[in-house]
Amino acid sequence: MNSNLLPKKTLLIETLKAQGITNEKVLEVIFDVPREDFIPGYLRNQAYENAALPIESGQTISQPYIVAYMTQELKVEKTHKVLEIGTGSGYQAVVLSKLCKRLFTIERHMPLYKAAEEIFKKLRVYNITTLFGNGIKGWKEQEPFDRIMVTAAGEDIPDELLYQLKDGGIMIIPVGGQEETQHIVRIIRHGDEFEVNTLLPVKFVPLLSGIVHSS
Ligand code: SAH
Repeated sequence: MNSNLLPKKTLLIETLKAQGITNEKVLEVIFDVPREDFIPGYLRNQAYENAALPIESGQTISQPYIVAYMTQELKVEKTHKVLEIGTGSGYQAVVLSKLCKRLFTIERHMPLYKAAEEIFKKLRVYNITTLFGNGIKGWKEQEPFDRIMVTAAGEDIPDELLYQLKDGGIMIIPVGGQEETQHIVRIIRHGDEFEVNTLLPVKFVPLLSGIVHSS
């Protein structure tokens, strides 16, 4: 790591603690994963600012606080099989991969999907499996999942994803349109019942159907 980023990284961890991130493992992983490797070169100096940043294909890498918050709320365990929708830069995927057994991630923009595969290789992360496709449908061949995290805002909670959760499983998803206040929502599956809790107000790029082959 570029050593002049270290003071900012240390400060970021302190900020996250002050914002209520108490899970030590989550804080450790945020410290360990080099966020500067997931953003465009010209933004490297801002890698440890507590802010969302632009990536390719008009998308964004989420604010570190939101990554930490969603990860903490997902209550991931080392034995878990986890699905992420919206690979984007690959940052959240790597964070989750350090806390679970296997991480599956789906992206609908080809350039982002390809760049993420490269970074997973570069960082020697071997427990991530990628898919280029529409994540709203989930991943039929790999279900059920202990945990599901969606990192783009859905107007609704996609039914198909709910039924790919294991009994007792947790899903975290930002919900709301682009013109309204979105909220992070937590869903816990109890058999055929789903317990829904509304958490933090947020701003995410939209969860969209279909796939995009170019940038
Ligand atoms: N987790 C990412 C956040 C990226 S922003 C990170 O850590 O960088 C959200 C991403 O969701 C975008 O890359 C967008 O292309 C993707 N996305 C939106 N709708 C999708 C869908 N239906 N299936 C898969 N990916 C989707």
